[in-house]
Amino acid sequence: MSDTIFGKIIRGEIPSDFLYEDEHCIAINDINPQAPVHVLVIPKRGIPRLVDSQADDQALLGHLMLVAAKVAEQLGVGEAFRLVVNNGANAGQTVFHLHLHIIGGRPFAEGHLAG
Ligand code: 5GP
Repeated sequence: MSDTIFGKIIRGEIPSDFLYEDEHCIAINDINPQAPVHVLVIPKRGIPRLVDSQADDQALLGHLMLVAAKVAEQLGVGEAFRLVVNNGANAGQTVFHLHLHIIGGRPFAEGHLAG
C-alpha cells in the first residue's frame, strides 16, 4: 500500500466517497475535475507508475479497464469518455500511485489526444 494521498484514501485515513469499490480497486471523484465527469480508478495495490507494473499485474491492469468502463456507464458517459494514465512527472503525474482518469461529459475535439 502506498503512502500517497491515494493510499490514505484507500485505507480510510482520509474520508472519501467511493463511487465503486471491490477487493482490487476503488473509484472516486477527482478533487479538481477537468470535465463534468472526472473519476479516478485506483488500484489498492500501490504501483507508483504504469512503467513500474510487472507481468503479475496484468490481471489487475485489465481489471482497472473493465471497472473504468463499468463506472463510465453507470455515470451516463459510457458512449463517450477518455481514459488517461499520466506516467511520470514530465507527463503530468502528481500522485505516484497508479490511477486511471475517466474523463467525460463534455465534447472532445476530433482527432485530438489533448483537450
Ligand atoms: P495525476 O496528475 O497524478 O495523473 O492525477 C492526480 C489527480 O488526483 C489529479 O487530477 C488531482 O486533482 C487528484 N487529486 C489529488 N489529491 C486528491 C485528493 O485528495 N482527493 C481526490 N479525490 N483527488 C485528488
